[in-house]
Amino acid sequence: AKEQGRNTYQFYTEGMQDREVLRLELDKDLSQALTNNEFVLYYQPQLDLDSSEIHSVEALIRWHHPRRGLLPPIEFIPLAEESGRITEIGRWVVMAACRQLAAWKGTPYEHLKIAVNLSGRELDDEKLVDNIREALDAENVSADRLEVELTEEIFIQNIEHNLNQLSRLRQLGVHLAIDDFGVGYSSLGYLRDFPVDLLKIDRSFITDVAERHDDAVITRAVINLAHNLGIQVVAEGVETEAQLTFLKNHRCNLVQGYLISRPIPAEELEKVLAEGILVPGA
Ligand code: C2E
Ligand code: CA
Ligand code: CA
Ligand code: CA
Repeated sequence: AKEQGRNTYQFYTEGMQDREVLRLELDKDLSQALTNNEFVLYYQPQLDLDSSEIHSVEALIRWHHPRRGLLPPIEFIPLAEESGRITEIGRWVVMAACRQLAAWKGTPYEHLKIAVNLSGRELDDEKLVDNIREALDAENVSADRLEVELTEEIFIQNIEHNLNQLSRLRQLGVHLAIDDFGVGYSSLGYLRDFPVDLLKIDRSFITDVAERHDDAVITRAVINLAHNLGIQVVAEGVETEAQLTFLKNHRCNLVQGYLISRPIPAEELEKVLAEGILVPGA
């Protein structure tokens, strides 16, 4: 079978049937993962280009699988979305983020905000907003420390329900970010009809932004569009100094990517923040 580049292990070298068996096995393991406390949040810092400081981090889930090691979300989030388990996983993510925010109180990290990812499927849950409110209350964390990242898919289907969920979230005081902006095929109308706080330009535009005219034009246009609407812009997947320089020159607000830091566990994040080594050129 064909090599797929990433570490997709046996999935592609075994037959369809074996793959289905693996999926079922993984789904079964997934049902145990929460009880066994096997999920962990990694955090990737976002560098504020105005202040050269880090005020926010994105939480990215990982699964310490008992036999397969540390699994990235691509290996289990799509599966969890299909089976519906994503709802309880999402609940754990929000709870874990709130717990982390509470743990940072009274430390040098207490100003940090955490952005969590919510898939469209999670918005289907009528109890989502109540669950988030309860998690914030339980940890005595203010809602404006929490940000929610959603992709444009939520503006394509179930629009009325989703917009209602979003406005309830916003009433709560949670900040809203549009993830993977520019690849979602949805209309821009929601930017007019709905107040988002942040646009995250998809990595596919950033990769060659310093070399390719078209990517540069699109990225500049997105930044201008957002700023004219009073929305801040994050560039994702920033890996090079050339990309960083371009984004600085064009007044992008925040950058996130391997150039600053990979996603890392909380203890490691605290260490690198304390050492102040995340700011390139500083
Ligand atoms: P995303 O939200 O678009 O997250 C960005 C992904 O790009 C992350 O992959 C991150 O590790 C990776 N990344 C960050 N900087 C760079 C860079 O400079 N270069 C490159 N090549 N990649 C970079 P990760 O952690 O594997 O997450 C993949 C996706 O899984 C996320 O995409 C998000 O859609 C989903 N996901 C992660 N955590 C959660 C979660 O708690 N809940 C839900 N529903 N989805 C999640
Ligand atoms: Ca994200
Ligand atoms: Ca993204
Ligand atoms: Ca994505």
